Amino acid sequence: MECTRFQDEGMRLLDSELGDDERLRYEQHVRECDECATELEELGRIVKLTDELRLRAPDEEFWANYWRGIYRRLERGFGFVLLIVGMIVIGGWGVYEAVTSPDFFTIKGMSITAVLLGLVIIFLSVVRERYHESKDDPYKEVER
Ligand SMILES: [Zn+2]
Repeated sequence: MECTRFQDEGMRLLDSELGDDERLRYEQHVRECDECATELEELGRIVKLTDELRLRAPDEEFWANYWRGIYRRLERGFGFVLLIVGMIVIGGWGVYEAVTSPDFFTIKGMSITAVLLGLVIIFLSVVRERYHESKDDPYKEVER
């Protein structure tokens, strides 16, 4: 028959919730019960593990890195907005200049337009890719 005393007394022993009498009695039992001995060792390992996790959670280093990561992302986001606004203004001005220029519908005008359009498309594609990558892993820049 399987012994299940570790489920109650074993847990309480590890949590130091057993009275002296109870503890001595149970420790005596563990010495004679393989079931309890193995389970207690397993439980002990788990309890130790969760204790370690609990201690590591409010890690200051983690939060310092976290905020540094956030700041860096804000900084880059801001730089990105400036870049895009600037590009839109220059682009708009360029388009206006181009379509009002008498050279626009020549081979030269069309070629330059094609090159610029190509650059813009590549740029937008790269931006979109980077954006999706950073969205998939929001803590990518947090050094763990
Ligand atoms: Zn037992």
